[in-house]
Amino acid sequence: MTTTFRFDPVELPPAAKKLRAEVREFLREEAELGTLVAHRGKGGFSREFSRKVGARGWIGMTWPKKYGGHERSQLERYVDTEEMLAAHAPTRAHSTADRQSGPVILRYGQEEIKQTILPKIAAGELCFCIGLSEPNSGSDVFAASTRATKTQGGWLVNGRKIWTSNAHEADYMIALLRTSPPTKENRRHGLTQFLVKMDTPGITIRPIINLTGAHDFNEVVFDDAFVPDSHLIGEVDMAWKQATDELAYERSGPDRWIETLSVLVEFVRMVGEEPSERVAEGIGRQVAHLATLRRMSLSVAGMLQAGKTPAVEAAAVKDLGTNFEQALPDKIRLLAPPPSDREPDANDDRFEQALRYTTLIAPKLTIQGGTREILRGIIARGLGLR
Ligand SMILES: Cc1cc2nc3c(=O)[nH]c(=O)nc-3n(C[C@H](O)[C@H](O)[C@H](O)COP(=O)(O)OP(=O)(O)OC[C@H]3O[C@@H](n4cnc5c(N)ncnc54)[C@H](O)[C@@H]3O)c2cc1C
Repeated sequence: MTTTFRFDPVELPPAAKKLRAEVREFLREEAELGTLVAHRGKGGFSREFSRKVGARGWIGMTWPKKYGGHERSQLERYVDTEEMLAAHAPTRAHSTADRQSGPVILRYGQEEIKQTILPKIAAGELCFCIGLSEPNSGSDVFAASTRATKTQGGWLVNGRKIWTSNAHEADYMIALLRTSPPTKENRRHGLTQFLVKMDTPGITIRPIINLTGAHDFNEVVFDDAFVPDSHLIGEVDMAWKQATDELAYERSGPDRWIETLSVLVEFVRMVGEEPSERVAEGIGRQVAHLATLRRMSLSVAGMLQAGKTPAVEAAAVKDLGTNFEQALPDKIRLLAPPPSDREPDANDDRFEQALRYTTLIAPKLTIQGGTREILRGIIARGLGLR
C-alpha cells in the first residue's frame, strides 16, 4: 500500500510546559550535586538517580495507574526525555525499561508479571536490557538461533546474544528466542519473547569494551538457563510482530538526534558572543537542522499520543536524526579555529572533551537500534517503493 509522510505540527499542552519547568529545576539541583557529566552523550548509569526520577513520577509516565504508571500524555513523556537527554542525566538504569521493555510487558505480558514488574520499573528500581542481536543475526533479527526448549514448568535457554547494552547491570532481559523452526510460508515464524532474570544460573555475561574505552555492551551466553512459564511474553512462535512493535518504540524519541549535541553546545560556549561570520553561519545551519528534526520528532510523539503507530515516520526521524548527530562532531571540528589560534581556558577544555567523546561515539549512531540501510528499507516499503 502506498502511503506518504505526514508530520503535523504539534503544540505542547500547558501540562507539558509546566512539566518542563519542573524537570529543569530537578536537573539544576542534580547538577549542583555533581550528578550530570557535561560531555557524555546519553549520560551515565545511576540507580540512585533512577529511583529519584521514579519518585517524581517520571518513569512509566503514560502507563495505567494500576501498574504504577501515571496516565500522562506521550507529549509530557517526550518533554521529560528531552530535558534528561539535553542535561546528560544518568538515565541508563531506567531508560530502556521506560522506553521499550515496560511497554512490551504492558502490551503482551501476563497479568501477574504486569502487576509485579511494572510498578518496580516505574519506581526506578529495575534495569532492563534487550536481547535481540546474535553473532549471526543482527539486522536480520528473525534469523535468531538462541533456543528456548520446553521443559517442566518452563523453558531451557541455550545460545548467545551479543552487543547487549547494560546486560552487566540489568535485572532483566527481554529476549527473542527460537522456540520452533521457521515455516516455508513465514520465515519469521518460530520466535518467542521471554522475560529473563539476569541472575538465573546458566547465564554468563562477558564485557565488550567500546571505542571510548567504556563497558556499555556485552556478550551474554545461556547454558541451560531456566525461564518459568509465567515469563513468556505474548504468543509462542509469534514474536515477530511484538519485536517489530518494540523497535517502533525505540526509534521514535529525541534520543535519536540529541546524542552528540554537547559538541555544538560547548562550541557555542567556546566561541562566545561574537563569533566570526563563517562560524555564526555554520552554527545557524546546524541549529536550523536541529530545530527541524525536533519538530519532526515531536510530531511522532503527537502521533503516538493520538494512538497511531507511526513506524515509517519514526524510521525517517531516526535515519535523519542519527545521520545529523553522526555528522555533527566533524562539521563542528571543521568550523572550529585550530587549537593554536585559541586561548586555552576551561571552555576550550570542555569543547575538546566533547569533541573527542562525540567523535568516538559517532560511528555507532547509525548502527544501534537498526542500521541506516535497514531503516531506509522500512521507509521505502512504507512509501510503496519496494
Ligand atoms: C552501541 C550499540 C548498542 C547496541 N545495543 C544492543 C542491545 O542492547 N541489544 C541488541 O540486541 N543489540 C544491540 N546492538 C546491536 C545492533 O542492533 C546491531 O549491531 C544492528 O542491528 C546491526 O546488526 P549487525 O551488527 O549484525 O550487522 P549486520 O546485520 O551484519 O549488518 C552489516 C551491514 O550490512 C547492512 N545490511 C544488513 N542487511 C541488509 C539489508 N537487508 N539491506 C541492506 N543492507 C543490509 C547493514 O546495514 C550493515 O551496514 C547494539 C549495537 C550498538 C552499535
